[in-house]
Amino acid sequence: MAFTLKMYHVTVSGFPASPQPAATPAKARAACWREYTVAYECSFREFLKRSTVERVEPPKGFGERIAVSGKAAYRVTGIHSGQYVAFVREDSDIILRSHPADVSTLHVCDGCGRQTGDPVEDLRKLHADGFRSCCPERNMKVAA
Ligand SMILES: [Zn+2]
Repeated sequence: MAFTLKMYHVTVSGFPASPQPAATPAKARAACWREYTVAYECSFREFLKRSTVERVEPPKGFGERIAVSGKAAYRVTGIHSGQYVAFVREDSDIILRSHPADVSTLHVCDGCGRQTGDPVEDLRKLHADGFRSCCPERNMKVAA
């Protein structure tokens, strides 16, 4: 379980650098090419000649552990998301967006590693299913 994204800047000659969170430099470039070809006709081969990619220091909050709709996720900052929160799920490089109301602090159990966005609601559900707790050591802490 991990956050797989890094932040890259893809620069096309004549344009400002485009921030591209991606798993690899090649994927960052391909994502930028797809955006570029919305407005300009350009083959990928030609794009490779016109562009450069470099890994850069990610902005604040990039990769922060959060819960989205109660499930573990990582925040993706540094890209345009409007009023939405950009995020990826564990081990995924597919960037998703959700309403800020769906985003909460991620809590992790010290005893068993269970993750939830709402420890109180999580315990209520466990009780409803006939369990006392997720484990005898249940101790929910905010994910570091
Ligand atoms: Zn537990």
